[in-house]
Amino acid sequence: MEQNLKNLVNGEFVEASTSERIDVFNPARPDQKVGSVPSMPKEDLERVFAAAAVGARTWKNTGSLERGKVLLSAAELIRERKNELVSTIVTEMGKTTAEATGEVGKTAEFFEYYGSMGRDEFGQFLPDGRPETFAARLVEPLGVVLLITPWNDPLLTPARKLGPALISGNAVIIKPATVTPLITLRLAEILHEAGLPAGVLGTVTGRGSKIGDALFEFDQLKAVSFTGSTAVGKDIQHRLSPRGVRVQTEMGGKNAAVIMDDADLELAVPTIVAGAFAQAGQRCTATSRLIVQKGVAARVRELIADAVRQLTVAPGETEGADMGPVVDEASQASIREHISRARSQGAEVVAENELSGAAAEAGFFVAPTFLQITPDQDLWAEEVFGPVLGMVEVDTLDEAIELVNDSVYGLSSSIFTRDLGQAFDFLYGVDTGQVSINQPTTGWDIHHPFGGFKDSGSGYKEQGHDALTFYTRVKAAAIRT
Ligand code: NAD
Repeated sequence: MEQNLKNLVNGEFVEASTSERIDVFNPARPDQKVGSVPSMPKEDLERVFAAAAVGARTWKNTGSLERGKVLLSAAELIRERKNELVSTIVTEMGKTTAEATGEVGKTAEFFEYYGSMGRDEFGQFLPDGRPETFAARLVEPLGVVLLITPWNDPLLTPARKLGPALISGNAVIIKPATVTPLITLRLAEILHEAGLPAGVLGTVTGRGSKIGDALFEFDQLKAVSFTGSTAVGKDIQHRLSPRGVRVQTEMGGKNAAVIMDDADLELAVPTIVAGAFAQAGQRCTATSRLIVQKGVAARVRELIADAVRQLTVAPGETEGADMGPVVDEASQASIREHISRARSQGAEVVAENELSGAAAEAGFFVAPTFLQITPDQDLWAEEVFGPVLGMVEVDTLDEAIELVNDSVYGLSSSIFTRDLGQAFDFLYGVDTGQVSINQPTTGWDIHHPFGGFKDSGSGYKEQGHDALTFYTRVKAAAIRT
């Protein structure tokens, strides 16, 4: 059944003031319309921001215990509605059922985790040298915060931002990606039902390129947390930072995994294959560069090639599917263009999965592809955001670390080795915000600080306690009794 949804404005789900809507289609079956959302004109944004300004005052004064209870109720509702949410993610975005189930579970965990922080201290009393005086360190919300999220984890990325933003007392306006707005509006329904007061959450749907500028004009706006491409993120940062609007950016990645000669290949190979091809490679932390020490390079090539050929690529709800389609036609075309440019620049295709069944007939599927490349080719440097893995060979660990760091991005990296010394040299030597030893570049837990260096991020971390830093400010008070 089609989901034709409305936006949450001032505590009510409303149509836009124009009848224009954005249709959402199933990437595995592009002729199947999954639903639609309003295409909000700029004029409607004023109501959203005005409501948020009032909501911010209400929520700040609500007390963290009550705020936490709302988030905990939301977590319960998410678990109750798991099947419906999973099905929306599968049909709107193209993930497999297993991947979408993981996303929904982790989303509930985010709300449980941040909801339980309602009982934590927000600030502290401090000693003061003056007579009859004590001091305090107060932690306050910022006010109205805008969240801009991408399509690749369309429920989880909003949750990762909403949890810390709401528990610390901010009003939030969220703008989901144009291709996957339905699941975010479903989440807004859940948060509304869980008891968020009017104005504390507002949703905005419309094309980023159309309403983006208007979203940033409002004086009420105190911070923007953006996850998406580096080009858009940097542009937002450059525009808003001079105005004193705090900006958090979580952007692109070109993540490398290293396999040393002494690695446990039975662990390394399946971990890297999952890191590169799960979610059709559409993860900011996806493994897209593989750096292998020469002693095991031939064996690694063979093992990864076999694994790539054996992946089951199918519509997300198919039993046993390892990988679904990519999100839309433009992504499919762009990924294919990256592969054909790599070939024309001399990259060798070591293995390409042969698409069959439904994946060969229709839908935005891309064959998982494993190539041997060189660092002078575009595929080494450019983020593909698809099921493509490029491999290079090295002689030494130093060379491997140098290659990991040979990127404008600095999000995630990993090394497979049994040598603790090599592992620590890698840990200290790489310029990435996330580093794994004998673990994938993907898959960080909700309480691990998360965020990239260089062109991958602004430095503010998401997840865990660190996430609160972005959404709060510290006020010092001295009180004479
Ligand atoms: P995108 O930059 O095209 O879009 C991200 C969001 O920004 C969407 O909601 C979009 O509508 C909005 N947007 C686009 N132009 C805008 C504008 N001018 N003004 C305001 N908003 C605008 O990115 P995408 O294609 O949706 O996502 C893929 C990218 O996201 C990849 O580069 C990926 O690496 C990155 N990503 C990063 C992380 C991370 O944590 N570092 C996580 C997931 C995805």
